[in-house]
Amino acid sequence: MSSFIRCLLCAVWLCGMAGDALSIEPGSNEAKRKEYIAAITRGDGVGLLPWQKSGLTREEIEFRQRIEERKTTLLKGRPQIQHPALFDSEARRRLLENVENAEGARHLTNRWRTIADHIVDQPDGYVAQMIEELTPWYGYGFTCPHCVDRLTQEGSGRSANWDYRKPEQISCGVCRQVYPSEAYPETAMLNAPRMGQKFSLYFNERERANPMDRSGKLAYQWIGTRPMNMSFSGMVRQSKAAFMLGAVEDLAYTYLLTGEPRYAASVVEIMDRFAHCYRNWLYHDYWNTVADCDPLYAAVNDMNLPLEFKRNLSADNYKRDTLEKARMLQTFWGAGRLFPSTDAMWLVTSAAIGYDLTYNATGADGRPLWTQEKRTKVERDLFLEWIFTGETYLGGPGKSDLHNNKVPRIYHAMAAVGRVLGLPEYCEVAMAGYEALRDHAFGYDGFSEESATYTAMYMEQTLPIVERLHGYKWPENSPHHGMDDPYRSDPKLKAIYQAPLDHLTPKLKYIPFEDSTQSSGPSRDYLEFGLKRYPEMFRGMAETLMGKTPSAWALFNLDAADLKGTNQPPLPEIYFPGWMTALLRNGAGPTASLAALNFSPDGGHRHADNLALWYMDGGERILGDLGYVSDTPHLSWIKSTRSHNLVVVDDSEQRFRVRNNPRRPRLEMMFTTPRVSAVEASSDAYAQCRDYRREIVLLKGPEGRTVLVDLFRVKGGSNHAYRVWSELASSWGKNAGLEFNGVAMPAEPPLPKVGASLKREDIYGLRDTRVIQNPTNSWQAKWIEDGRAFRFWNFTSADAVHASNGPGQQSHNPPGRRVRVVDVIREGKELESVFVAIHEPNSSDGIWPIRSARRLDVPKAGADAVALEIKTVWGDYLVLSEFEQETEILNTRFQGKVGVIGQAADGKKWFAASGATTLQRGDLGFSNQTARWQGGSTRIESNRIHSAVSMPKGFSALAEGCQNWLLINDGNYDTGFPLLQVDEDEIRLTDRFSLPATAHDKFTLPSLRYAEE
Ligand SMILES: [Zn+2]
Ligand SMILES: [Zn+2]
Repeated sequence: MSSFIRCLLCAVWLCGMAGDALSIEPGSNEAKRKEYIAAITRGDGVGLLPWQKSGLTREEIEFRQRIEERKTTLLKGRPQIQHPALFDSEARRRLLENVENAEGARHLTNRWRTIADHIVDQPDGYVAQMIEELTPWYGYGFTCPHCVDRLTQEGSGRSANWDYRKPEQISCGVCRQVYPSEAYPETAMLNAPRMGQKFSLYFNERERANPMDRSGKLAYQWIGTRPMNMSFSGMVRQSKAAFMLGAVEDLAYTYLLTGEPRYAASVVEIMDRFAHCYRNWLYHDYWNTVADCDPLYAAVNDMNLPLEFKRNLSADNYKRDTLEKARMLQTFWGAGRLFPSTDAMWLVTSAAIGYDLTYNATGADGRPLWTQEKRTKVERDLFLEWIFTGETYLGGPGKSDLHNNKVPRIYHAMAAVGRVLGLPEYCEVAMAGYEALRDHAFGYDGFSEESATYTAMYMEQTLPIVERLHGYKWPENSPHHGMDDPYRSDPKLKAIYQAPLDHLTPKLKYIPFEDSTQSSGPSRDYLEFGLKRYPEMFRGMAETLMGKTPSAWALFNLDAADLKGTNQPPLPEIYFPGWMTALLRNGAGPTASLAALNFSPDGGHRHADNLALWYMDGGERILGDLGYVSDTPHLSWIKSTRSHNLVVVDDSEQRFRVRNNPRRPRLEMMFTTPRVSAVEASSDAYAQCRDYRREIVLLKGPEGRTVLVDLFRVKGGSNHAYRVWSELASSWGKNAGLEFNGVAMPAEPPLPKVGASLKREDIYGLRDTRVIQNPTNSWQAKWIEDGRAFRFWNFTSADAVHASNGPGQQSHNPPGRRVRVVDVIREGKELESVFVAIHEPNSSDGIWPIRSARRLDVPKAGADAVALEIKTVWGDYLVLSEFEQETEILNTRFQGKVGVIGQAADGKKWFAASGATTLQRGDLGFSNQTARWQGGSTRIESNRIHSAVSMPKGFSALAEGCQNWLLINDGNYDTGFPLLQVDEDEIRLTDRFSLPATAHDKFTLPSLRYAEE
């Protein structure tokens, strides 16, 4: 649409909003609605409209009465609580000992002291200045008007800095511009006249230049679609308030250490002020809506408010509203009073700890610092008011209906408040909430139904629920009365603790599959709880995993010896049967290697990326995955099939999260041995494909070095693009480039400098594509930069090779990274492809491991058969895959799924084979054996299958130093479990994972044979 037409429509529409359109009767509800929206969105802070009544409605008043009565009932007749309630009897002793003995403990206690002294040394009025009566605003969608489009991207950064020593300003984390600023005045006003609060906001240049367009389209956009009006002054208010809540903990700990009443007195003063302010802070959402009514009334009725309670500066944000019924733009998920996302309820714990530790504090005069009046105020107007604000979202009082990734913080807050205030009903909801999360948010392998980073987000507030309630004496009438220690009796909890440890990269981060950031890894809380509760899992690795400075919790709960240890975590080669992701590894420590294949089922925060490959060699990322950049329009590329290392069929997206038609990934085979490990998986994510299957074979050299064989079979569709891109040789690499050997690729134009641009072509899709038609079957491409390089060997006959560049941005700042992408393209009707490739990283000292590599023709072995001869500096390999017919090649006979014959540099010969009947070269190998044990079972236990058919004669499924996987359907997907032992009619699995009760009775156990000469 041309801008002229759009402007014309705007003008007509604005007329309509002012109530002048012909069809709207003056004084009608529709006229009032339009008049109201036009008035608010002008941004001049209009108060009540002429037809609005002032004062609270009867509903609000009655609602508030019921709330206050409920508070009274809850607090009346509580059991006597011993304070502190959140700390065990040894806590103070451990703290004092740790201050003496634990390296890093002093660092933390000094920090407490610095903050605590800073606060108690302030003049009168400081607390009131730091915690303002005016509702705090927030930083979601923060856009720095000073550097946007130049250094940062619109709506993408929350990178504003704040420092408690200069509390009245924030500054841009990138350009350092300070706000509030006269250069960027907050000229817009959003008034909440019923409740007597006024917010000043920033209109950007476009908005100021076009006062007639208040649709919201001219505002800065969050994720490209949501208008954002920032309030820098409101961000300052929020930063100050959050700091003061955190400082409550610092003050309380310093009081505990020193016994000096002034620290406790400061806790009392701050909490008293919070109670005063929190009670009146208005309910608002992270899309700029504020509810001009009793804030708790708004939380309970958030989707059903009279229009005149809803205040938002963008007209488009009222589209679904009538005069009688208006909606907040977000549920409690994205709303709150202190902070618009579940109201920052993780901070409730800080307040609870402060209250708990100072509960019985006395002043210098020996009189209690907490008067009864102050206690009542804090318990009612801070703790209960805050908890009530979140309660509706969970289903109402006593309910624990939700188990999404944001509710753990609500349950955690309830656990803390339940214990400190002595309210068993909240401990109850918290525990039920944990159980709901455990049973619904986490799969049986301990991984959530989202990504690794989001699994961590679940854990961050879920694990503390169990920890806060540990040792709690459940009342007699409680369903949890007499419950066992969950750390001992709850296998799922143990699985949740184990999962993150086992899927770390050699750099001890999470693999950036799905919505996982490049830098996320296990949290300190998780590791410290683990050290305390599962020492067998975590002992000896404390410093490796979390450095030297412990958290406050650790000082109260761990001994100095627990916090020592520089061992590396074991990092096994592993397959997660629920997450459906396989990890092949070689070497140990930070320079080890990892090839990971992801084929997860549908889930939240996952991608359309079945069979995506990620590869790290020598601790360096070789084959990449863009991971996650939250809250930006980049996500559409990042989530797309097209941005992953896999085969793109018909230039289309894989099926992903289609209602009633989930993708069905499937584990086909997995084994690990000392010299080679392999995994194969398939998926039905492309409906036009009857086969979409990838097999990777990791060849293991000394000192963690690797070469990766990659066989990708696709049948169906008419265009197969095998896509490969490396993290190396991106636009950020020094002296970076892409070189071809064996094809005459035209010269590369300079990589585009897209900077902070959010234009579609700059953040989505490949560009500058160079093309070679009908290339030879054998060529290589090298991604080169200073210090490291990666060579891709192609052995596929193709119609074309494309070389392009695409978006490679992986974090908010700095923006604009590009990566180099190569496509091997085959075309044809009802196309069948077997892509054959080798991924070869060089060593950090520049040595290429491969001396020679060639693909051998094996036409008689079957259409899918592949034979590769690879000679490396550490040994030679013959890799054979999918030989339907027994065939001889290079003096080797093979039939079966996969077989590798090797000879190490020292002359030692060896072989490995899975699902094969024959693999024979001279004396080495075997012939005419059973390839698999297959059948039904008479009984399935969590780690044992009683087979209805006896083990085939001469069957071999286990070998020294090797691991084999049993293939079985877990009730939802064809997946697999690691084998422990086989007997005549029984298969036993390791205890790493448990077979779910829903598992099918059919199983397949491929043979595994491995031997060294
Ligand atoms: Zn800036
Ligand atoms: Zn991805």
